[in-house]
Amino acid sequence: MAATSETLDDCDSGQLPPAWVEAYAQQVRDCFSLQGWDIYVRPMTKEQHDEEPTTAGLAHVNHRYSNAVIEYWDQQPVEPLKRVLVHEFLHILVAPLTTLIEAMLLEIPVKRRGMFMHEMQIHAEEQVVTALTRIIFPLLQQSLAAHAIEE
Ligand SMILES: [Zn+2]
Repeated sequence: MAATSETLDDCDSGQLPPAWVEAYAQQVRDCFSLQGWDIYVRPMTKEQHDEEPTTAGLAHVNHRYSNAVIEYWDQQPVEPLKRVLVHEFLHILVAPLTTLIEAMLLEIPVKRRGMFMHEMQIHAEEQVVTALTRIIFPLLQQSLAAHAIEE
């Protein structure tokens, strides 16, 4: 999921991810050439949520200032969680397009825009990011495994 309009300060849960999550996020950041970005990865914990959240991850992206907060549900097995992280990092890569579309939608008079157009835009972004994740995640895992063997 992507959330672009919230302020990044609202996302600070105060919790730090385990070392392996930090290390994996760093590898994904490097593979996606996002070295110039400030990206904070934070768990959504049981303490914060009475029940399981409706999304396994959430990306709050401000591409104008190259910063993002990625939140993930921490009650997931390793492999699905890695996939969620890759998905959320892909939201960072498509954020310029999302911001452009949001700006264009604002130019359409509310009467003509309709309530559903924003929902359609969010749905389209999720479809693109999900499709890219399906392609990139296995390739990334192979690449990281090959790289680990070389070291
Ligand atoms: Zn998503």
